[in-house]
Amino acid sequence: MNYEVTENSEYDFENRMVAPEYTPEDAEVENPLRPKRLNEYIGQDKVKENLSVFIEAARLRKEPLDHVLLYGPPGLGKTTLAGVIANEMDVNVRITSGPAIEKPGDLAALLTNLNEGDVLFIDEIHRLSRSVEEILYPAMEDFALDIITGKGQMAASYHLPLPKFTLVGATTRAGQLSAPLRDRFGVVLRLELYTPQQLAEIVTRSARILQIPIEADGALEIASRSRGTPRIANRMLKRVRDFAQIISDGVITYQSAKIGLDRLEVDEVGLDANDRRLLKTLIQYYNGGPVGIETLATAIGEEAVTLEDVYEPYLMQIGFLSRTPRGRCATPAAYLHLGLTPPALAEKESMQQKIDGI
Ligand code: ADP
Repeated sequence: MNYEVTENSEYDFENRMVAPEYTPEDAEVENPLRPKRLNEYIGQDKVKENLSVFIEAARLRKEPLDHVLLYGPPGLGKTTLAGVIANEMDVNVRITSGPAIEKPGDLAALLTNLNEGDVLFIDEIHRLSRSVEEILYPAMEDFALDIITGKGQMAASYHLPLPKFTLVGATTRAGQLSAPLRDRFGVVLRLELYTPQQLAEIVTRSARILQIPIEADGALEIASRSRGTPRIANRMLKRVRDFAQIISDGVITYQSAKIGLDRLEVDEVGLDANDRRLLKTLIQYYNGGPVGIETLATAIGEEAVTLEDVYEPYLMQIGFLSRTPRGRCATPAAYLHLGLTPPALAEKESMQQKIDGI
């Protein structure tokens, strides 16, 4: 199988240790670490179960797999899964992204270069332009390109057959996709944040491949601070290795992982300075909420979509943030984590003081 990357997706904050987005620094470590087969792909059991049934059925029918839409936060293994699907189906994968396909002609060129059965992976598929999307519909449905050339009486339309292919689309949120595009995917799968135990397994596997000695509780310490995301876990593993060389003879132990990650300012639950800033802003300027997402985003100088895609899924998973119809709220657990007193408790304490004073 070949990975052909036409263009990397855009990325922000390269310097953020816990940013789940892909950065060039990840490239060197990611490729050898990507699982190649479904049985090497850790976690996401429901997704794997469903996929293996569909793959098996398609193989028996000697047909390409139905188009697959993967959705979930960045860094959870969507690109990896597209490669796994291609390997399981014994075909090649071509990797591109929504913003990289600027014109209908770009997509037409990609599609006509596919071989029968190939997987075309489009990351950030919700960012395709309308005119590109319109080329994609007949391509997905009828495996054909409908091209119109010229204008008026000179106009001619061509119907160009394409090889049967499988489109694997990835998006951070399925809701952002236009309905006609979403409806053309036969398989829609949601990837979940990983548990610390699954991440520890991923870290242990990656350490074995990179030949980094690691103890079980060292792997678990990295896992617990990786905010449910394999990309972050692998990045931390690489950084902690440097600390381990100095502190514990190159072996990643609980102690060297802890010191390394403290030094990188990632706390015990995986929050970095940006997450803490978000929670503190919410608590100190907006009394813990509810506050609208746009207001909160402006207050911390980020875009609302970044908040929704990158910060919130994990803060909600660990129960530090809740989304209510009136806006975002910090939970008592978030207050306690930051060493602050949650409002209900503060009220109770002040009542008690008043009672004591009587
Ligand atoms: P996404 O496309 O969702 O942003 P990637 O597929 O690029 O995420 O995954 C990021 C990295 O995490 C990959 O290099 C891969 O090594 C690792 N990874 C992701 N999912 C798994 C998994 N289930 N098991 C093992 N490693 C994984």
